[in-house]
Amino acid sequence: MKSKKLNRLREAMAAADLPLQKTATNLVFGEGDPSAKLFFIGEAPGKKEDLSGRPFVGSAGKHLDALFDSIGLARGDVYITSLLKYRPPNNRCPTRPEIEAHTIFLIKQVLIVNPQMIVPLGNFATRFVLSGFAIDKMSGVPGISTLHGKAVKMNLDHRQFLVFPLYHPAAVLYNFGLKKTLFRDFKSLNKLLGLSTPKRRKIQ
Ligand code: URA
Repeated sequence: MKSKKLNRLREAMAAADLPLQKTATNLVFGEGDPSAKLFFIGEAPGKKEDLSGRPFVGSAGKHLDALFDSIGLARGDVYITSLLKYRPPNNRCPTRPEIEAHTIFLIKQVLIVNPQMIVPLGNFATRFVLSGFAIDKMSGVPGISTLHGKAVKMNLDHRQFLVFPLYHPAAVLYNFGLKKTLFRDFKSLNKLLGLSTPKRRKIQ
């Protein structure tokens, strides 16, 4: 049922005349478990995502997979998407009309999956989600360095979600300290969800 609704939404998005569509190769709609408890939101597809049509398949995605693995999750256990579903040319910053046009679909996606927790990755996604999915209010939301690793309640369309902001995996790749913080935040996320961390086999 949910997967049918998501497919219909993907088709509607592909058929819509959206900004950034003409310069992009593929729509990067999102993927994962349509009934996932965890809904991850990145910023925008990069080059590899644009070419493959899949979210987080580049170096940030590899790091995200390692983070999932650290708490015994796989990509297919969660839902992953981004604020923007088409790559901005040369990864430039998106304009306001571009963000507005794309996030209408993001909100519908969240409401279909109806996760327990929304996990925005990085400043941009965190500010957007915690502003109540309202671009106008984004500037009033503190930055990710203040908000990461703490759960906040948020209402969307009369439903309550927990929001758990995390650093964007691309932003921590070359910063050892932030990388450790992100692994630690993933552990907190795991505890909050009550998921069990898998026991690692000892290497003899
Ligand atoms: N970064 C994002 O925010 N989204 C992707 O899909 C890939 C990289």
